[in-house]
Amino acid sequence: MRTTTAWHADPEGLRPASLERRELRPDDIAVRVDYCGLCHSDLQTLHDHDGHSPLVPGHEFTGVVIEVGPEVTAFSVGDNVAVGNIVDSCGQCPMCRAGQENFCHSFPTLTYGGRDRVDGTTTLGGFSREYVVREDFAYRLPVGLDPAAAAPLMCAGITAWEPLRALEVGPGARVAVVGLGGLGHLAVKFAVALGATTTVISRTQDKAEDAHRLGAHGFIVSTDPAQMADARENFDLVIDTISAPHDLTEYLKVVGLDGTHSVLGYLGAVTVEVTDLLIGRKKLSSAGSGGRPATAEMLQFCADNGVVPEVEVLPSAQVDRALDRLERNDVRYRFVLDMSDLDGAV
Ligand SMILES: [Zn+2]
Ligand SMILES: [Zn+2]
Repeated sequence: MRTTTAWHADPEGLRPASLERRELRPDDIAVRVDYCGLCHSDLQTLHDHDGHSPLVPGHEFTGVVIEVGPEVTAFSVGDNVAVGNIVDSCGQCPMCRAGQENFCHSFPTLTYGGRDRVDGTTTLGGFSREYVVREDFAYRLPVGLDPAAAAPLMCAGITAWEPLRALEVGPGARVAVVGLGGLGHLAVKFAVALGATTTVISRTQDKAEDAHRLGAHGFIVSTDPAQMADARENFDLVIDTISAPHDLTEYLKVVGLDGTHSVLGYLGAVTVEVTDLLIGRKKLSSAGSGGRPATAEMLQFCADNGVVPEVEVLPSAQVDRALDRLERNDVRYRFVLDMSDLDGAV
């Protein structure tokens, strides 16, 4: 086994301890994890954790290849790479063959809390100094992308990217992004860079300045009925990034003819009046994570168009503080942990 150091969840919180990674299989690479983003699902998983089963969160990270297995062809030692929230899939089912490994019929292997397809062990995540991954699920980090800022692209980024691409958003499209957090600010940057007329919908006026700074052309306060009424049927695509349960009725009203409301932030049950979809032939959709082709495409798009997440980088020793702040939405717009302080931490 290979020994590294990681932030393990226990009943008192996260603490640094050593971690055994598998020896490299023929198609594995070992990655020195330099930066790992903090995702809402990390927070949720820690809340739900029993405190005892092994848990190392973290599923959007960048780093450097430090060793390759004998059959690895895509990477060499020293390459800058990025890894997201899935690390394997069956490779055979229709979804995998369509390049949508994120929807694999036998479920993709998650970067942490998943079940390794070879040895059945529980996967442990990127809040660690080293990760071992199949080369097919690592991505070359294009030149020009800052490794710290790029980390959140691998979960928040690809989740916002796939629905925009699937609906062929481009010049002339009218996109609204509901909620300006980790996911939402990237949806805005992507939509703007793709050429769409982009509007942010937020509960208060507070983030109006930020929205414009991120490139948004319009800003609507959702709690102002007059502003929402003015925006009636105004958008081809509404990307909904609100992470708490919420009523979709008012948002469906701003979706235009044959337009789509894509719910990305909240994955529980919602109630919809079908007539709210009927009027205007509107579609209700969702998306999450991404397949290998789209992930590589997104990274290249970001490098080509200068799209990078807005991040606050903290030493990984401040992970508990960062989680507290994330819980209070006190971050603009994504925390990234610098893992270098794990060297010699145990
Ligand atoms: Zn995530
Ligand atoms: Zn599959």
